Amino acid sequence: MSIPLQELIDRHCGGVIGGWSNLKAIIPGGSSVRLLPKNICEQVLMDFDSLRDQQSGLGTAAVIVMNNTTDVIKAILRLSKFYQHESCGQCTPCREGTSWLSDIMGRMEIGKADYAEIDMLDVLLNISAGNFPTDRRAHDLRLGRCGGLASSRSDSPLPT
Ligand code: SF4
Repeated sequence: MSIPLQELIDRHCGGVIGGWSNLKAIIPGGSSVRLLPKNICEQVLMDFDSLRDQQSGLGTAAVIVMNNTTDVIKAILRLSKFYQHESCGQCTPCREGTSWLSDIMGRMEIGKADYAEIDMLDVLLNISAGNFPTDRRAHDLRLGRCGGLASSRSDSPLPT
């Protein structure tokens, strides 16, 4: 606990393919937490507080390393499809949100998404995570029952 993420990767996990300078981003806690760009990976510690401070999380601590050969859009599309497939469909934010996310990411991958869909993703992920506008709360639209999938699609900002 609290080992620097860079040390964990470089010293204990064989490093990034192509070296640290070839790093694009890391998802530090499994696919349910926010992806971190390289500059943050160089500073952050692997513990609950440090990762929370970066709006990410320790999650399952299943670290996913992406080097510069990774197409992040494709990677997130793949994660989205996984969550869409795994949703049991019982809760509206999860059932609908995972499908919408997957559809939007699919359009992004082939360059057919509208710019407005970038903002739409933000709204969608906030709703899925249970951060509803007040009027939505009044309608009792809640986070999914298992508290997992609805808030766990890779709500990762894409590295620039
Ligand atoms: S949040 Fe959990 S219980 Fe609800 S639809 Fe998703 S997988 Fe099913």
